[in-house]
Amino acid sequence: MAVMSEHVTVAEEEYLQVLFWLDEAGLPKTGANVAKAMQLSPPTVHEMVGRLERDGYITRAGDKTISFTDSGAEHAEGIVRRHRLIERFLTDVLGIPWDEVHEEAERLEHAMSPVLEERMLAAIGDAKTCPHGHPIVAGIRVQGVPLADVAEGASVRILRLENEAEELLHYLKDAGLEPGLEAVVGAGDEDDVVLDAAGREIRVSRTVAETVSVIADPSPPARVALPDQLVISRDRYGR
Ligand SMILES: [Zn+2]
Ligand SMILES: [Zn+2]
Repeated sequence: MAVMSEHVTVAEEEYLQVLFWLDEAGLPKTGANVAKAMQLSPPTVHEMVGRLERDGYITRAGDKTISFTDSGAEHAEGIVRRHRLIERFLTDVLGIPWDEVHEEAERLEHAMSPVLEERMLAAIGDAKTCPHGHPIVAGIRVQGVPLADVAEGASVRILRLENEAEELLHYLKDAGLEPGLEAVVGAGDEDDVVLDAAGREIRVSRTVAETVSVIADPSPPARVALPDQLVISRDRYGR
């Protein structure tokens, strides 16, 4: 049916979402990075990228870099916005803990009408980010630096949890680390980064600290996240 082919599929939305994340992380939008982020085989990704191109959501340059078309950018922003809005609604309105909402949002984001989106937006009040710190509306993202790069003695404010794989969120919540938290970086060691949050010690592994963006004073130089940091988990990805 001609009408059906005009609708973006769930699978296409998943790919558009990942391409959007690569953009946000400052990484090149390539099939190789998509394959890495989704932990899928290059041929699988190649096929879907071809479909996205045929359906008019992306274009591919000679060097294999992917760009969004206007329609692709609109769909990608839409799915990411709905995901983050749903997460915020689930925590703030329904009272679900923030380490339990990502997977729910992954399911709900594909089945949301504009009317429901409008109602949810009204229900979350002034909130501008998902509970993990990602901006609901595209274009207002503060860059930040990885917590792992910050020197001992610096003051930090937790900006964003870059990887939302549920097991990582459980780990961070158990450790007592969440967006908005202010702390001073203590003397860590080879394995762990240690924070002092008003006398409370918070300890996370260096690998996980790579996935936590902070505002730091003094700040190390900015650095883009690596594709691996989007996927350090058993899950395909989680963001
Ligand atoms: Zn999420
Ligand atoms: Zn989130």
